[in-house]
Amino acid sequence: MAQPDFRKEAEAHYDEMVAMRRDFHRHPELGFEETRTSGIVAETLQDLGLEVQRGIGQTGVVALLEGSRPGPTVLLRFDMDALPIQENSDIAYASENPGVMHACGHDGHTTMGLTLAKILSKFQGDMAGTLKFVFQPAEEGLGGAFAMIADGVLENPKPDVALAMHLWTPEPYGNVRVLEGPCMSSSSVFTLTVTGRGGHGAAPHMAVDPVLAAAHIVAALQSIVSRNVDPQDSVVVSIGEFKAGTTFNVIPDDAVLKGTVRSYNNELHRMIYRRILEMATKMAEAFSCTASMETIAIVQAVVNAPEPTAVVYEAAAQIMGEDHITPKRTMASEDMGFILDEIPGCYFFIGAGNDEEARFPHHHSRFNFAEQAMIDGVAVMGQAVANYLMGSDSE
Ligand SMILES: [Zn+2]
Ligand SMILES: [Zn+2]
Repeated sequence: MAQPDFRKEAEAHYDEMVAMRRDFHRHPELGFEETRTSGIVAETLQDLGLEVQRGIGQTGVVALLEGSRPGPTVLLRFDMDALPIQENSDIAYASENPGVMHACGHDGHTTMGLTLAKILSKFQGDMAGTLKFVFQPAEEGLGGAFAMIADGVLENPKPDVALAMHLWTPEPYGNVRVLEGPCMSSSSVFTLTVTGRGGHGAAPHMAVDPVLAAAHIVAALQSIVSRNVDPQDSVVVSIGEFKAGTTFNVIPDDAVLKGTVRSYNNELHRMIYRRILEMATKMAEAFSCTASMETIAIVQAVVNAPEPTAVVYEAAAQIMGEDHITPKRTMASEDMGFILDEIPGCYFFIGAGNDEEARFPHHHSRFNFAEQAMIDGVAVMGQAVANYLMGSDSE
């Protein structure tokens, strides 16, 4: 059985994709508020004859496309949420929702997901297995993937493999990034409270100064990356907030530090936290203060499993050509890490940058992506699905 020509199929849907994406772009919605978007998603999937469930992880939508024969279940995940950013572009289809903007490309992801559903439902009869389309809310730091997992998205049926992609402007249009192992970092936030004893700035010997202790802690934490981490591993420890005191001549009671840790390795992440706590408490003690720490894990590292990555790599080579595949990773984060922690899979990046409209970084108020990249995304993911569920070309 010959497989469909996915580039041709995607190209045939291009005008429709552009219109759909621009409509989503005009009407962005924040995490867990994607009612208009998820309504369009659910309706489109229902019209295609898929079995649709709404309200999975609040505004999430799940739809099943059953092949004609038994086989593996492949989960395809697309995120739908926008960001709390005021769009500052002069494009005709700029956001009509003040203070909210699709500044990460999730409008394109939702569009590619619906287009894949349209294309793949035509080939239902050639498929051995099940496709599980997952339209996820609240990817941008609000825990949408986690909410969907809590509502059972990884059960009934349990996927054998999970795939997702991101339109990515740091990579030029025409390329795809596929990489085995960790491809996006884990991200977490910590708060350190250093407590001393306040007093008069002119009588420091009568007080216990938490500002001095906190300043030493900030400096000491820099040694974790340089002295506790293997130089071949990538780690970030950053303090972004340092709050203490109210005026110039008063030593405050405490100082509060807030920072973030990023890494590709969850084990390493835990080690870093042990060191932060150790350094903070002992450094505080050296200055007669005490220190306590609170942490919030935002997302885990996105780690690609070998076999699904090989399948996506093969699909990318078929669609884009092997010389257009780059094995780069990023220190940004994604809550797909929660899904890939339970189901083996692959997360990949579709190059969507150019020197014109798509020259601004993700989360910028003038962010945009090369719309033709949606053809690449649909074609590569469609081909990967076919490689799982539609045999190979030679059969
Ligand atoms: Zn983003
Ligand atoms: Zn994103």
